[in-house]
Amino acid sequence: MQIPKGLEPMYPSTADALQAERSRAKFDVSEMHKFIVDAGTRSRTAKVLKVLEAEPETFNLRDIYFYSRTERMEHALKMGKRLIELMQEGKLTNDEVSWADTILDTMGPYALHRSMFLPTLESQANEEQRELFLKPALKYEILGCYAQTEIGHGSNVQGLETTCTFVPETGEFEVHSPSIRASKWWIGSLGVTATHAMVMAQLIVNGKNYGPNPVVVPIRSTETHKPLPGVTVGDLGPKFGFNAMDNGFLLLDHVRVPRINLMQRYINVSRDGKVSRPANVDPKVAYGTMVYVRTQIVRNMSQVLAKATTIALRYTSQRRQFSGKSDNPQPNGLESPVLDYGMVQYRLIPLLAQNFAMFATSQAFARHYEQCMDQLNAGNFGPLKELHATACGLKRWTSDVAIRGIDTCRHVCGGHGFSSFSGLNDFYGNSYPNIIWEGDNYVLSQQVGRFLLTQVRALRSGKPVADNQTTQYLRRHLTNGRLETVPGPAFIGKSVASLAADTDAQLDLLSYRAAAMASELVDRMDEHGQTWNQSLVAMQRLSDAHSDYIVANYFRQHLATLPTDSPILPVLRKIAALNFLYVLEQNPGDLFRLPGRAAFSTKQIVEIEQLLAKLIEEVRDQAIPLVESFGVSDLKLNSALGRSDGQVYDNYLKWAMEEPINREGTGDKIREEWFQKYYKPFLQPTKSQAKL
Ligand SMILES: Cc1cc2nc3c(=O)[nH]c(=O)nc-3n(C[C@H](O)[C@H](O)[C@H](O)COP(=O)(O)OP(=O)(O)OC[C@H]3O[C@@H](n4cnc5c(N)ncnc54)[C@H](O)[C@@H]3O)c2cc1C
Repeated sequence: MQIPKGLEPMYPSTADALQAERSRAKFDVSEMHKFIVDAGTRSRTAKVLKVLEAEPETFNLRDIYFYSRTERMEHALKMGKRLIELMQEGKLTNDEVSWADTILDTMGPYALHRSMFLPTLESQANEEQRELFLKPALKYEILGCYAQTEIGHGSNVQGLETTCTFVPETGEFEVHSPSIRASKWWIGSLGVTATHAMVMAQLIVNGKNYGPNPVVVPIRSTETHKPLPGVTVGDLGPKFGFNAMDNGFLLLDHVRVPRINLMQRYINVSRDGKVSRPANVDPKVAYGTMVYVRTQIVRNMSQVLAKATTIALRYTSQRRQFSGKSDNPQPNGLESPVLDYGMVQYRLIPLLAQNFAMFATSQAFARHYEQCMDQLNAGNFGPLKELHATACGLKRWTSDVAIRGIDTCRHVCGGHGFSSFSGLNDFYGNSYPNIIWEGDNYVLSQQVGRFLLTQVRALRSGKPVADNQTTQYLRRHLTNGRLETVPGPAFIGKSVASLAADTDAQLDLLSYRAAAMASELVDRMDEHGQTWNQSLVAMQRLSDAHSDYIVANYFRQHLATLPTDSPILPVLRKIAALNFLYVLEQNPGDLFRLPGRAAFSTKQIVEIEQLLAKLIEEVRDQAIPLVESFGVSDLKLNSALGRSDGQVYDNYLKWAMEEPINREGTGDKIREEWFQKYYKPFLQPTKSQAKL
């Protein structure tokens, strides 16, 4: 099927319109790219893209939207196999292969081997186990997965029911699923691929339960790939997204494994059943690994949202609907780009600004993480609790903004956003689990809340409190753990316009809001008998208020790395102010209820709305250069609407023509068969049918 020849050229062409948007740039896009995307990511992306683009036959995403589930899995396996070969040929590292998965948006069946099985071995295996499991795993001679979640328990890890019982007679462990509820569930790479599972099971020695611990259980033969005796394993079927991955279930029927299979870095069971914990390793180090995984999610979420904002902003700047609007006249009676409508801007521009904040935050947070890890590795565990709480809060904040942001982006593209060729639908499904895994976002808000409440209570009772970015603001705003309204915080008395121009005052207000919420919640719980369960709604608001402050603070820290005369600073300051006003505009209730003189008036709320609208309009002018500074490649976009050439309608129509039902040969055959079977009886009724 071909586009008919001789069609009139479109005026203005969407490609020209995109080019015109680019030419509005008031800053150097490549300078902005260097600032917003860290050097490691830039070089990794460039290297991986070069390798992928050199093999277009293998790393081809063109047909992916037409695939069935099994075709998707096979396609992912094929790409995954080649990536492993490239690694073995020394052309890519393990990290770069994971990055290739991200670019290709295809978490295939080897992904959990890399993202969970190998890191658990790295952090929890002793030397002998590294030799036994890590060495072959690194060569892909065994394929692993991480089996923690069960059909009956996910967030409540302590409630897991799979057991790992020491057998004194033989010195082995018996790993067992006592009920259907104990069936491992959701486990990535388990359904079809893995030969070994890192099973989290209750460790029981001489009748005593030592809680969930990881144990390596061989589940499929590396010779025949058939399940081993006592193992019931399979794929758990189609899902909302993530369908290239073989998420699976696993039931173990009294499966025996050698004692060495229990990860022994933090716990050891001797041949005679004595349980010991090595004195030279602190189990708190394991928290560092959890925090690391969340730092990776924070980093990835900025990339995830960047794909969605790139598609939506490019498309809405080219899509034209309606003409003759008096407040937005277009030359030659042209229709308006939909991005010029205030309502479209309100949906997209704050998202773009949040995307900038995310990129900056992920870099500043990564630096904070490195500093804390240096201290942890030197045996100082002081920073761990705050680091953990910050990571929980940021994982929740960034993944919530990114996942809801993808949905906003596809909706803002109208009907075409609903087409797979927008690049936003599979992508939404594939990215969605980020708000569920590594701590469900609502459960995580309790970790943040618990930390903040503990700090406030410590300040009230005069107990020692560590010095960190959180306690610094709590101390500043609370006196003996209670909110001080006289003389009150520095932001009081400032106009909305001067607040928007003053980063110190912004941080003062955002931190005061979080401190006020924390203090009020402690009052309600400790002095008015409000229970933990009754406090959960307030706690998730508190978690977000805290993270709003942390994100703004990290954004400022990252801006401070630029020279004061940097030409990209003015637009970045505007973006920071927009983010600040957007937080306020979204949460007017928090501002009305600030205590005493700190409380906002209706007039101030109206000023916030007006100034926000003005900034949104100003940033819209630079929207395309700004979003293109994220540098998302066409391969990653895999979108007809968002490609860099701006040929929206041509690409879209050509792609639709490739739909298998339209194709010559195979498509012709299907259509002919359906015609004969289903429509022909109506279209060409036989004489007897025609009489009816
Ligand atoms: C695509 C995908 C891949 C996954 N891959 C893996 C994997 O490879 N390995 C693995 O082990 N797991 C994996 N998981 C499982 C994932 O980690 C869990 O789904 C997650 O931890 C949430 O647990 P749950 O599903 O049991 O939800 P539940 O804990 O049952 O939560 C259900 C609801 O209750 C709420 N809730 C729960 N507890 C509380 C509480 N205390 N207070 C208030 N609200 C609460 C939650 O917010 C949620 O809304 C995967 C999940 C998905 C979707």
